[in-house]
Amino acid sequence: AAPFDVESVRRDFPALHQSVNGHPLVWLDNAATTHKPQSVIDATSEFYGRHNSNIHRAAHTLAARSTDLFEGGRESVRRFLNAPSKDDIVFLRGTTEAINLVAASYGRANIGPGDEIIVSTIEHHANIVPWQLLAQATGATIRVIPVNDRGELIFEQYAALLSGRTKIVSVTHVANALGTVNPVREIIQLAHAYGVPVLVDAAQSSPHIPLDVQSLDADFLVFSGHKVFGPTGIGALYGKSHLLEAMPPWQGGGHMIEDVTFSKTVYKGAPEKFEAGTPDIAGAVGLGAAIEYLESIGLPAIAAYEHDLLEYAQAGLADVKGLRLIGTAREKASVMSFVIEGQENEAVAHHLDAHGIAVRSGHHCALPALRRFGVDQSVRASLAFYNTRADVDAFLRALHTLPRH
Ligand code: PMP
Repeated sequence: AAPFDVESVRRDFPALHQSVNGHPLVWLDNAATTHKPQSVIDATSEFYGRHNSNIHRAAHTLAARSTDLFEGGRESVRRFLNAPSKDDIVFLRGTTEAINLVAASYGRANIGPGDEIIVSTIEHHANIVPWQLLAQATGATIRVIPVNDRGELIFEQYAALLSGRTKIVSVTHVANALGTVNPVREIIQLAHAYGVPVLVDAAQSSPHIPLDVQSLDADFLVFSGHKVFGPTGIGALYGKSHLLEAMPPWQGGGHMIEDVTFSKTVYKGAPEKFEAGTPDIAGAVGLGAAIEYLESIGLPAIAAYEHDLLEYAQAGLADVKGLRLIGTAREKASVMSFVIEGQENEAVAHHLDAHGIAVRSGHHCALPALRRFGVDQSVRASLAFYNTRADVDAFLRALHTLPRH
């Protein structure tokens, strides 16, 4: 039984209540993006409808309100991650922009020729390409932690990659193409034994697993609002304060300065130093509302519920003829990636769509992860706490009626 009332949760998400191709919508594309509860929609539209101002606290009443709302969103993110201070939270467009910031700012300042950057085989392209750009610009090298046939990182091989040359480790918490939950706590502990900082890509873990940057001792942690039931266009970077303070700005402009002359600019401290220009104020307000919504249910309850639902769904998939699950880690969250013998992935996704069931087919921006398993595409179904056994049953039923040739 659910530790919360799933049916009442579902009523909070207007987009879930529609017909698609004559069937009730079953949304199993949560790893790509999640639907928004009414409270997030209301917070965002109320921002534009009533408060809307740029964030210069002192200018006038609406500016003060908008600034307070924006900073309230930042405080919600701080709580969500259990960061020590609101100043450790930088608002950005999302995970991609946050990793690019760290690679460009921390990376350019600290990584040089012959240095090494460690990532894993099962990263999203957003946690590969920014490091490649950095490596190309600096002469550093990327080293890759391999995975076993279940899609789990091989820890001894990670340990063997760490050395005095390692300058940063950047790994995903949950792999978006496979669902593997990585042992980020142990990964961080070992890196710290070498004095190496770790960036945790929490884009896929943040909707499913309680996060605590202090308990994990993460140096950087990044996530996207749209995957935690908040708006698109907003996300956050957490960084340890001593790291953020030492990092140079990466974009220049308004909001991030104390003083500018044509010979010199004095920057503000973190987080403003990294927030040049007018931010996504409504997005930050909506993200704050999404976090409050999640807190009202509780991430531990969500994790327990989804764990059961994933086991139920994976047991069902085992009965689908010719289906091969890609990513069978002992610790998984949300994601079921698969191919079916004799079926085109895209045709499977279209067949499901014809039954009102939304999944993704393609490479999921994780080509190296899929290639490790001999494919460069899969069908991916991914769960959230508003999914039910009835959703899973509809999905399995549709898979059993795939036209066979
Ligand atoms: N990392 C992971 C693990 C992801 O799943 C995603 C989103 N698919 C990203 C990074 C990129 O997130 P965004 O597109 O929101 O910047």
